[in-house]
Amino acid sequence: MANVCAGVLALQGAFREHAAALRRLGVKIRELRALRDIDGIDLLVIPGGESTTIGKLLLEGQMLDPLRERIEMGMPVYGSCAGLILLCREIEDSDQPRLGVLDATVRRNAFGRQVDSFEAALDIAELGAKPFPAVFIRAPFLTKIGLGVQVLAKANGQAVAVRQKNILATSFHPELTADSRMHRYFLDMCK
Ligand code: GLN
Repeated sequence: MANVCAGVLALQGAFREHAAALRRLGVKIRELRALRDIDGIDLLVIPGGESTTIGKLLLEGQMLDPLRERIEMGMPVYGSCAGLILLCREIEDSDQPRLGVLDATVRRNAFGRQVDSFEAALDIAELGAKPFPAVFIRAPFLTKIGLGVQVLAKANGQAVAVRQKNILATSFHPELTADSRMHRYFLDMCK
């Protein structure tokens, strides 16, 4: 992946951790802060953070439409947590700005206030037999899923990792763990 340039959306949230995880796998990073940074990226990562803030900054920076077009043309994209929310077509009880490319409905902060954050060992067949240490922080889950969307993992019976062609989304934060299998899976999607 040496000649690949990975765009990591760096407006707000845990972008440094995603960049570090990708660098560990030998990928060149560009932090995206403005429209002019988009040209020349081969893939995109949208970090966790606050989806309303990131969406507002994307809108103000006129980045929503160009990024949506690139994704619809086939550019691989991976969104974790707030990143997943921004990818979804429908967000329950919200008209916040979004990319809306993933045929799914998401519920924000869906696991409830009592369990603000938790870790769960998830079985994810695509990542091999060893359970994946998934960190959830005020995490969303998907309540409706389109026909073209593959569910990769569930937690408490809810869909928390999905793939739709070139789009990968997880409710949890692989960038906060040392397990690089999810990032590796995403890079394999990009080949
Ligand atoms: N609850 C946040 C939101 O709705 C997402 C939390 C996260 O990214 N860790 O944007």
